Amino acid sequence: MKTRIALIAHDKKKDDMILLAGQYRTYLATCDLVATGTTGGRLANELGLTVDRKHSGPFGGDLQIGSMLVQGEIDCVIFLRDPMTPQPHEPDINALVRACDVHNTPCATNVSSAHLVLSQLQLRAATA
Ligand code: PGA
Repeated sequence: MKTRIALIAHDKKKDDMILLAGQYRTYLATCDLVATGTTGGRLANELGLTVDRKHSGPFGGDLQIGSMLVQGEIDCVIFLRDPMTPQPHEPDINALVRACDVHNTPCATNVSSAHLVLSQLQLRAATA
């Protein structure tokens, strides 16, 4: 089964997400990807990745991804949060991160953690 990865980036972290995903593009192309709306649009347009795009975060996209996670449909979350900007959907963000903790699902919330997670997943796939 393909590894199912959720990708979310707040506005000021979207360039970082594109840079990060670009570095793992070949590996990510072998995974089932889901993303919030705007993040997913950029991943598709700029990197040519196939992404299941949910609503934009402020319109419930984090909750949609959280719901998938609770149903066992997500293996890993890369969530590049912006800690410096208040977000209108803070409760949704907290709900998603909490769901990751409840279900013991890896959740990288910054670029260096994301590198650790993605490089490990990539290595596992290469040696499987
Ligand atoms: P977006 O949502 O990818 O649609 O911008 C991300 C978020 O703000 O949680």
